[in-house]
Amino acid sequence: MKYDVVIIGGGINGCSLAYQLSKRGLKAALFERDYICSGATGRCGAGIRQQWSTEENIILARESVKIFKNLSKELGEDIGFRQGGYLIAVHDKKELKDAEERVALQKSLGVDVRIIDKDEIRSIAPILDPDGMRAIAATFCPTDGHADPFKTTFAYVKSARKHGTDIFTHSEVKKIVKERSRVKGVIVNDKNIKADYVINAAGAWSKKVAKLAGIEIPNTPLRKEAIVTERLKRIFDCMVISFKDGIYFSQQNEGQILGGIPGPDERTGYFFQPTFSFLQHMARTLTRYAPVLKHIKILRHWTGFYDVSPDARPIIGEDPNVKGFIHCHGFSGHGFMLSPMVTKILSEYIADGKDSEYLHSLSIERFKGKKIKKEISVVG
Ligand SMILES: Cc1cc2nc3c(=O)[nH]c(=O)nc-3n(C[C@H](O)[C@H](O)[C@H](O)COP(=O)(O)OP(=O)(O)OC[C@H]3O[C@@H](n4cnc5c(N)ncnc54)[C@H](O)[C@@H]3O)c2cc1C
Repeated sequence: MKYDVVIIGGGINGCSLAYQLSKRGLKAALFERDYICSGATGRCGAGIRQQWSTEENIILARESVKIFKNLSKELGEDIGFRQGGYLIAVHDKKELKDAEERVALQKSLGVDVRIIDKDEIRSIAPILDPDGMRAIAATFCPTDGHADPFKTTFAYVKSARKHGTDIFTHSEVKKIVKERSRVKGVIVNDKNIKADYVINAAGAWSKKVAKLAGIEIPNTPLRKEAIVTERLKRIFDCMVISFKDGIYFSQQNEGQILGGIPGPDERTGYFFQPTFSFLQHMARTLTRYAPVLKHIKILRHWTGFYDVSPDARPIIGEDPNVKGFIHCHGFSGHGFMLSPMVTKILSEYIADGKDSEYLHSLSIERFKGKKIKKEISVVG
């Protein structure tokens, strides 16, 4: 069988690519080693924020929000998108100065964001205790939000199938076939599948997949943990985060509180085992931020992986040495929210040869001895 494009990975990025490419008339096949959403996508907070420190991430997120807003209509399925805002705690004068700089940059790029005081923190999310949070202020962007990661990914799958994409689950790509520095296809389920392009959208396993094509990438898998509580009636709308404490939490559409924090035993590598130390730390910090949650039960606790790049920015675009091999990884904990724009840029490049400044600034080549600009506004 011959395809225009083979996509490796059935998370939000792989499935969005399948939709975007097939919509543009290309014949694509997606191979997922386990099941759709079995990687980070099915384990994530699915928060969508435009409050970043680098111009690039702000613009990619801002444009992604525009796509998310219309996505339920475009795909014909409800993806659970809502804009409850993101409230980012500011803990001291140094953080306030940094926040003022970030807010000025975000505003200059058209993002509706402002600094709020403790009273406004209480009025936006009455469950929060600014003193318990040790916050002197916060930044707030009302157009940030959240979508359901399962509904979004499966809506892409459904639309991609309608447009002719073949989607294979429980199908691990074991080899990437090359001829004279050009990809020719993949070997999966003992079959040789020919393709002009092969996309690495394998999340925290992208380093292993790149190796199949003889490419070294600087990514590291980092184990993260998250919890979800029992359902509550709606008590707040925004995602609450703190760069200093690393915590993030929000109330889901169905009422549960979902959140995470870096655990005391957090480490790099493929460790699936959840830790009790995380659970304790999360419960203590969450109830310091929102004391009313003290009597709420935690229902579930799981692990997932960030695919971390050296500058916490995604790595995208065609490999400079292996033609037809497309990078789409290194999302470092924000790959759900950036997926609409990143996959649009990649699909336009593959289908129409359209260039984008981000294919240069986010290329794998940026790590070659040059000074890199690190994204510092990361949590969890
Ligand atoms: C706890 C947690 C909270 C997060 N919160 C947020 C958030 O609030 N907002 C946000 O934007 N992001 C968040 N993220 C990050 C986000 O989940 C990821 O950046 C995003 O889901 C990455 O999607 P992906 O499609 O690139 O990769 P994944 O969803 O990881 O999918 C990759 C897939 O590739 C498959 N695969 C691997 N190797 C092969 C192979 N050889 N052959 C075939 N298939 C293969 C895997 O099985 C996997 O399903 C969070 C992540 C975690 C872990």
